[in-house]
Amino acid sequence: SPPISALPPGVPPLPSSRGSSLTPLDGLRPFPVPDGPFNASGMMPPPSNRGVRAASANTRPSPLAASGRGAAAAMSPLQANNLSEADNIKVAVRVRPLFPHETERGGTSVVQVSSNTTIKVVVPGPAGTSMQRDFAFHACLGPEVGQADVLHLCGVPQLLDAALAGYNVTIVAYGQTGSGKTYTMSGREEVISSDGYSGGDTQHDGIMTRALQHLFAAMQARKGDTKYGVAASYLEIYNEGIYDLLNLKAKNLPVKWDAALGFYVPGLKQVPCTKIDTMMDVIRTGMQHRHVGSHELNIESSRSHAIMTLTLHATPADPAAADYGAPRMGKISFVDLAGSERLKDTKSEGAMLKETTNINKSLFVLGKVISALAERDSAGTSAHIPYRDSKLTKLLMDCLGGNALALMIACCSPASTAVEETLSTLSYATRAKNIQNRPTVQY
Ligand code: ADP
Ligand code: MG
Repeated sequence: SPPISALPPGVPPLPSSRGSSLTPLDGLRPFPVPDGPFNASGMMPPPSNRGVRAASANTRPSPLAASGRGAAAAMSPLQANNLSEADNIKVAVRVRPLFPHETERGGTSVVQVSSNTTIKVVVPGPAGTSMQRDFAFHACLGPEVGQADVLHLCGVPQLLDAALAGYNVTIVAYGQTGSGKTYTMSGREEVISSDGYSGGDTQHDGIMTRALQHLFAAMQARKGDTKYGVAASYLEIYNEGIYDLLNLKAKNLPVKWDAALGFYVPGLKQVPCTKIDTMMDVIRTGMQHRHVGSHELNIESSRSHAIMTLTLHATPADPAAADYGAPRMGKISFVDLAGSERLKDTKSEGAMLKETTNINKSLFVLGKVISALAERDSAGTSAHIPYRDSKLTKLLMDCLGGNALALMIACCSPASTAVEETLSTLSYATRAKNIQNRPTVQY
């Protein structure tokens, strides 16, 4: 099938004569699926990611299963698992290492990355039995994957290039508290948000820092052709209130609707970034304010959603290029969601209950939006998508659905003690995988 060639409404494609370094198709290339340490077992992906089978069951393949395996061998791992390289929403899973304190308390690892695209969870059953559940995603990253490899394994450079070409891009980290969301997006929260930290936790830097470095390099490389403007904002949603992480005085900001802009937060600080240092400061300041703000309000940062957004503006370097068309806008949002375990925490009372309900609300509505989009895409109907039911989904509206590109990284603990949460995270991620975000506008 032909590659998707649509750009967002109002975004003219570059004339092909000058478009060589800026092709929107960059964002639609498949995830790289390298051989290497992550596929050391040499295992084939399981023929199906559906259903539960007993780990101890007779494993002699039936003739049917054998032919299924033969067919899978001829396909790419993604095809074998019913995933498309052209999916506009890609779902990756990252399993963090088991920590010594978990081992000390008798925790064992029950989650295993079985190939670049498959993961298995051994669920303890009654009387020493266990069941194995298999899942497939666009990319599966085990505990041995370091921060430097996360980007290319998850296809982030392609997403960034797509944003430079005018797409809306979102990268979302989902998972229970302590599963590695903040580590994956930002780095070590405990280090970055500590007093006096001034950068340089290089080995542990997360996607945001590395993405900014990639973006700056890409913009530099294209500056003969295109002039870019970048503005950064960083906000937190707590208890359905919006707080500006770049301006601690701005509390409880509203979300407004504008026909041209979509949902936006009036008064939110936008920091123009002409230097990479300014962008790095934004990340650091935001992280530290998230910490300070949570102390002031007596909350844990794990109960809030943090969104860092870069707005990109592309104009021709040569103003005399009259045929260039209108400036192009792209957007990248990095979303560090509240811990997903709050979803079922319904026993709290009073203020806690309100907080829980509201935090539930944004995550819960995000789940509903994801389900509705997945249903719409598989049935090909125009179902109602409840974006307007929470602040989070309002702000992510132009990033989920339509021709936006999204990456969800579902973060998991490998510990036996967290197996319930891990299964719930993987099934949430499985639903997200069913969204296709097919473009609605063709040029
Ligand atoms: P979350 O944001 O999901 O609540 P964090 O990202 O804060 O969780 O991770 C919890 C702890 O585990 C932190 O101390 C973090 O530095 C550490 N951690 C998370 N993922 C990894 C990883 N892949 N490798 C090493 N340490 C990690
Ligand atoms: Mg966190």
